[in-house]
Amino acid sequence: MSATENARPDHRGPDPQLIDDCVHCGFCLPTCPTYQLWGEEMDSPRGRIALMKLAEETGEISPPMVEHWDLCLGCMACVTACPSGVKYDLLLLDQRGEVERTHPRTPADRAFRKLIWATLPHPARLRALAPGMPLARKIAPFIARRSPRLGAMLALAPAHPTRRRLPSIVPARGEKRGTVALLQGCVQRVFFGDVNAATVRVLAAEGWEVHIPRAPRCCGSLQLHAGEEDAAKKQAEETIAAFSGYDVVVTNAAGCGSGMKDYGHLLGTPLAEAFSAKVRDVHELLTEHPQRAERRPLARGATRVAYHPACHLHHAQGVHDAPRELLAQIPGVEVVLAADAEVCCGSAGVYNLLEPEPAGELGRRKAAALREVAPDVVAAANPGCAIQIEHHDGPPVVHPIQLLAESIAPSPSAPGLAS
Ligand code: SF4
Ligand code: SF4
Repeated sequence: MSATENARPDHRGPDPQLIDDCVHCGFCLPTCPTYQLWGEEMDSPRGRIALMKLAEETGEISPPMVEHWDLCLGCMACVTACPSGVKYDLLLLDQRGEVERTHPRTPADRAFRKLIWATLPHPARLRALAPGMPLARKIAPFIARRSPRLGAMLALAPAHPTRRRLPSIVPARGEKRGTVALLQGCVQRVFFGDVNAATVRVLAAEGWEVHIPRAPRCCGSLQLHAGEEDAAKKQAEETIAAFSGYDVVVTNAAGCGSGMKDYGHLLGTPLAEAFSAKVRDVHELLTEHPQRAERRPLARGATRVAYHPACHLHHAQGVHDAPRELLAQIPGVEVVLAADAEVCCGSAGVYNLLEPEPAGELGRRKAAALREVAPDVVAAANPGCAIQIEHHDGPPVVHPIQLLAESIAPSPSAPGLAS
């Protein structure tokens, strides 16, 4: 491909100053899952930043550069590891946006990406497709022989939708502490409705009046993390409008929370900045306020829980201890960490659909490490991680908030809130 074909007429790529923050020390390399897999400099954070610098200086984006950026999970382990505070998260968002705006993808690649965006962020379509998903999983190995990506998409289809029709408002139990609004999400709403119901029960038991608007259908984080900036901006604007009347917006899916906290960067407006500042991961919110509801032993008895830190919660949002603190409050719960707990499971938004081979290897490693600590359940705060770990024969996965709900609010407090 010629330099002219690769020229970037609409250059809005990464901020050169942020690129120059990298001092090439290499502290991030051992924490990077793709560097762990292949040991290639260009598949490390430092290498990918060097490629951004090259693209900035030459004004060209070549197919090999795109491949190295595509292979990045966006797990942000490098952000946690970097002693110089390099904002790789913002660099990657802007680089991916630039790639999708200017780089010609192959027709097959374009078609597969279109298929993803025509399904995942649309709860109504997911619901319509749900009855066919058991069959999709069965035929996935045959399809994978011709199309590994499509095979992965079918194989990772969740087994059962667990949609819950939640009331639009659930009152606080006891004295009202305040009002919060909950994002229902797209995949979360259709396949992890129990997690949303449990979140509402816990928040209400802790004194929050919970408002649960139906809109937006999706917050746009999946698209944002894949460089689909225009679609992400549209969803971000809808999300901001839907929650305009609230001071606190709660998320329980790591990917959604991480994306919504980046709306300020995405839209670059004071309104978006203000919105991002009021987004709270549910674990964050609960540990920011004194505990109210009594924690009781789980009906299932003493439980060994392996906590899996979802990358978009742990590395991207910096929520490290809160989920473990909440789990440790439950009498009879023992919280353990598997080896390499902070390494990505390979789910990473839509990475396990776009890059099934490395995602599969990381998924198998993660599942094996979790089996090694012999937990009764794994607790992970992201739907993608739950699907990925269970798909690779890991132990059963629940959301930390489901265990908390089982402990403090075992009976449904309102119609539709049982889980
Ligand atoms: S985001 Fe994850 S995969 Fe990408 S460079 Fe950083 S550590 Fe490596
Ligand atoms: S990203 Fe940070 S840790 Fe990695 S090489 Fe650059 S300065 Fe060092």
